[in-house]
Amino acid sequence: MTTPGSSSGTTLVAQHRESGKRLTIADSDLDELRQLSDARLLICPFCGGLLTLKAGAVRVHHFAHVDLEACRTADHEPETDAHRAGKLTLYRRFQATAVDAALEQHLPATDQRADVYIAKQEDANLRRYALEFQQANNSAARWQERHQMYSDQGICDIWLLGQVRYQQVGALEPISVFDPLPVPHTEFDAAAGAFRIREMEKQMLLHSPLLHYLDPDTQIVTLLVKRTLHANTLRAYRYCFPLADCDLHNGKLVTPLSAALNRLTTGGS
Ligand SMILES: [Zn+2]
Repeated sequence: MTTPGSSSGTTLVAQHRESGKRLTIADSDLDELRQLSDARLLICPFCGGLLTLKAGAVRVHHFAHVDLEACRTADHEPETDAHRAGKLTLYRRFQATAVDAALEQHLPATDQRADVYIAKQEDANLRRYALEFQQANNSAARWQERHQMYSDQGICDIWLLGQVRYQQVGALEPISVFDPLPVPHTEFDAAAGAFRIREMEKQMLLHSPLLHYLDPDTQIVTLLVKRTLHANTLRAYRYCFPLADCDLHNGKLVTPLSAALNRLTTGGS
């Protein structure tokens, strides 16, 4: 399950060695974490290995394994500052409306680790979401496997691609006012263009015509709406809007464009 070399041994969640309390970077007092780290009281919730706090010249504070080879958790994306920032951004955005929220949640049934886990009460249903901030280049088969495992557990998986995966080919153009599709032509930085995508994105597009990208620095979501796909060139509409204007509902990421796009995706092609 673990790809060779993919475990870099850092985490945003630690456990108190004695009390067992879960300590999340976003929710814990830094001074308290420093003291616990110095006293060697922080351990990895996944493998039990000793952790140390990294809160120096990094963008996102985190914990690192003292023994780098120790941790063998599934679904470790090669951890970068940008990946940590993406996870933290998603956690902070959706934590408030959740009945249960966790960073790097381990799911024992499939031995997966969701970047962000959110449980929400929606009418009579408790709906469970796994939010994945994906920068690494998973194969199509690996993505499909992860998607299927979430699906088998009744968990709605939502994938936000890292900005590094957004590759524009040539210049963007305005969307013609004569374009017959029911998408906004001028709002949300609307534009049309060509984009280079890889096998993982192509697999995602078999499930939905939408690709979402998140820039943790600006907290802006970029949305691509598929028009055509030839080889690795996606022709798409491009829109941008703040993550703050997005929500989770009905198993989906609801964006300012969802109403218009529902007409596009359910009204026949
Ligand atoms: Zn570990």
